[in-house]
Amino acid sequence: MSERKQFRAIKGTRDILPPDSALWNWFEQTAREVFESYNFGEIRLPILEEVDLFARSVGSDTDIVSKEMFTLELRAFQEIYDLRGQLTDSVESPVRFTGSLFQFLRAIDSARASDRLSRESGSAVNQLHSAYKELNERIADDRVLAEATERPETHPEIHDRIRQAEAIAMEVRFSREAAALRPEATASVCRAYIEHNMQALPGNQKLYYIGPMFRRERPQKGRYRQFYQIGAEVLGQSDAPAIDAEVLEMLLVFFNHVGLTRTTLYVNSIGDKNCRPQYVELLREELRKVKDKLKEDSQRRIETNPLRVLDSKIPEEQPIIETLPRISDHLCDDCRAHFAKLKEELNLRRIDYKENWRLVRGLDYYTRTTFEVTAEGLGSQNAVCGGGRYDGLVELLGGPPTKGIGFAIGTDRSILSIEEGGNVPKLGGLAVYIAWMGQASYPTAVNIAKKLRAAGLSVELPPEEMKFKKSLGLADKLGARYALIIGEDEVALGTFTLKRLADSDQKKFAEGELLEYLESERRR
Ligand code: AMP
Repeated sequence: MSERKQFRAIKGTRDILPPDSALWNWFEQTAREVFESYNFGEIRLPILEEVDLFARSVGSDTDIVSKEMFTLELRAFQEIYDLRGQLTDSVESPVRFTGSLFQFLRAIDSARASDRLSRESGSAVNQLHSAYKELNERIADDRVLAEATERPETHPEIHDRIRQAEAIAMEVRFSREAAALRPEATASVCRAYIEHNMQALPGNQKLYYIGPMFRRERPQKGRYRQFYQIGAEVLGQSDAPAIDAEVLEMLLVFFNHVGLTRTTLYVNSIGDKNCRPQYVELLREELRKVKDKLKEDSQRRIETNPLRVLDSKIPEEQPIIETLPRISDHLCDDCRAHFAKLKEELNLRRIDYKENWRLVRGLDYYTRTTFEVTAEGLGSQNAVCGGGRYDGLVELLGGPPTKGIGFAIGTDRSILSIEEGGNVPKLGGLAVYIAWMGQASYPTAVNIAKKLRAAGLSVELPPEEMKFKKSLGLADKLGARYALIIGEDEVALGTFTLKRLADSDQKKFAEGELLEYLESERRR
């Protein structure tokens, strides 16, 4: 017996099946409705973006970019791949193969010159150069070329060399890939803002997105390699704290709508380009003094990204971190005023929050306002939303001076928290199961199914005849609310018997009454 491979979803990815998918759709639909009530419009973004977009915005020193990005060999290498395809296609013809090899080597040499070839490929490339030289010399003799082309068996050494070169060409690998599966979407929104000249549009641009993100993290509860986010961004000329407050209000209204209420909102200000660099330097100096007491990761971050030390969850480091200088004592006047006004705005909107001076967020692009929402019931991965202000990011990506603020909600974790809290709403489900028996009743069953579906009900019509008992048993197992019984008696009398499965209550209806009754039930 041959053993067949059992395919499984790739590590860190998963399927969302019905009925869970109904919960996901409801969650996303509620976000659309709430966000649109705040005049946000949906932006649909590509999942693939240039690697450099994330390196420049999120930061090449961050874990997200340096360790966790899924990259693909794309665009920049497409030409090389096409040339390699031509090599394979021309193995029968010594002259065409040699010509294709010449072009392939030219492209490879230029990739090597710009450091895009993996080091291990060096010897393969050298071998290809010798193969090219040899083939070129051999086919320079017109007689040999004609023979080798027309009667390959007369020059097996040429054809062997061609096949060998083709195999070596397949081994060439590239070091710097060009495209990445997006690890987050703020950078993409900014890229799109610039690309479509959106600063020329009236007012602030208020955009939301929904979709999968990809990070090669260690999978665990609430942490996946393909996960889903719902995000919103405001881009424009103003950095008024009222914008920050409105974004937070919208976020909490949404969480309220979906029953995600056991949450805490943390806010902080991490300063801007005028005050943060001095604070970071001060922090670095203080950290250097206690370096020996810190673990390896934090020690390294003293030099690379000292703010990230504040993110540390390591118990032994906590007392040390508590003694470090706090950004709130080092904000410049403008940042201090901005933060004070934000808190005033939050109070005006009756939004509960906690200040957390250690909330610096992992990404490079944040300025001033940062925030995070945590939810109960999730263990260590308890952040369900993160966000902040990123004035200057659009400019960094080559666009005009622009202010920006936004957040990303983690859908996977939010749904886990809603489920753990027992707040799952009752959604849709099967309304009517049509239990028909006898071929004479089949046309009536098909007809009424179509009408009920047109009235917006979810209807299951068994494709094959079944005994009533079996049919009603299946209706029960499928969780239908009603079974509509159509037998020969019903057809003869022009009636339908509707059985409510919860209490077995049974009523007879004519077609018009039946539609009316079920429609009014649906609205209840
Ligand atoms: P971030 O972009 O890192 O600020 O993430 C925003 C939100 O996305 C977090 O608060 C999480 O809820 C969610 N999130 C981030 N990474 C993952 C992951 N690997 N798996 C599931 N959810 C994630």
